[in-house]
Amino acid sequence: MKKVLDLIIVGAGIAGVNAAVYAKRSGLTFKIFESKAIGGQLFYMERIDNYLGLKLGTKGRELAKILSESLSGLDVSVENEQVTEIKQQEGVFQVSTSKGQHETKAVILATGSSFRKLGLANEIKLTGRGVSYCAVCDGFFFKGKNVAVVGGGNTAVEEALYLSSFAKKVTLIHRRNELRALEYLTKNLSEKDNVNIIYNHTIKKILGQQQLKGLILEESDKGGARELSLDGLFVAIGTSPNTEICRQLVSTDENGFITTDSKMKTSNDFVWACGDCRRRPLRQLITAASEGAIASIEVYKKVRQSYLSV
Ligand SMILES: Cc1cc2nc3c(=O)[nH]c(=O)nc-3n(C[C@H](O)[C@H](O)[C@H](O)COP(=O)(O)OP(=O)(O)OC[C@H]3O[C@@H](n4cnc5c(N)ncnc54)[C@H](O)[C@@H]3O)c2cc1C
Repeated sequence: MKKVLDLIIVGAGIAGVNAAVYAKRSGLTFKIFESKAIGGQLFYMERIDNYLGLKLGTKGRELAKILSESLSGLDVSVENEQVTEIKQQEGVFQVSTSKGQHETKAVILATGSSFRKLGLANEIKLTGRGVSYCAVCDGFFFKGKNVAVVGGGNTAVEEALYLSSFAKKVTLIHRRNELRALEYLTKNLSEKDNVNIIYNHTIKKILGQQQLKGLILEESDKGGARELSLDGLFVAIGTSPNTEICRQLVSTDENGFITTDSKMKTSNDFVWACGDCRRRPLRQLITAASEGAIASIEVYKKVRQSYLSV
């Protein structure tokens, strides 16, 4: 008969990896599944300046490597499989993946989030053909070219700053009359000669058949349209949670983020959530990592019915 595991962790971003570290150290029997690569969103980060213990300017992929090595050092292997369904039957979860079926007493959801799309015609077709969601990943291809970034928060300004070091011209398009980014970022941006900001405009149309050619912009409220010729468009309008697989299992808020208590427990007594897939006030590496640790310790207490004084 197939063994029922204590725990299955879905996702090996920093939240899931830290959950695995604590699960291992607690002696739980568990598996961790990752559909892409260990590190999740770390692969989109050019430099990290706010993760205590890391040297300033460490690249995201360097931290991803450290996470992989930490797991190997603890003898934890990550299964490279996508979790496709989680069903609860008679007190046990049946977890289906792209390669098989597993049973577990508890689940930690650490599925993170993905870039939000504009939802315009042509957007998907031209992704990789001028449209991108990650300057760190694709910026290199736009050396000496005209690019635009759409968005007004920290990520959008960071993307514009990053691109300004090699693109010919960067246009930041924002639908409101002021940016929402932190002051030091907007100050840095204002010092760049090759960056221009278009306020109060939204993108109405993405132009191009096989390759991005430009955009039709519409002035917010007034409705006047203008055309902008471009080689590249970077969409930086936030992220949405990867919670489609668990919406029947746990409660989510109006934006799809999983709601939990302060110990990461969801509306389901045997499911916990941590990191960017849950509703939380600060979506950062440091908080995602600590939430993974809390979730695993809570699973340990529940599954083993042992109450540690932590
Ligand atoms: C451009 C950018 C810059 C950032 N800069 C910083 C910064 O400087 N400092 C900072 O602290 N934070 C930064 N952040 C935020 C930070 O990256 C996130 O808060 C953090 O990485 C979230 O980690 P996570 O483990 O919750 O999710 P993720 O990193 O998104 O990992 C989730 C993982 O789950 C996997 N997964 C999802 N669904 C399934 C499934 N069904 N089956 C199997 N696997 C699945 C995904 O493939 C992914 O690898 C930045 C984010 C972005 C996008």
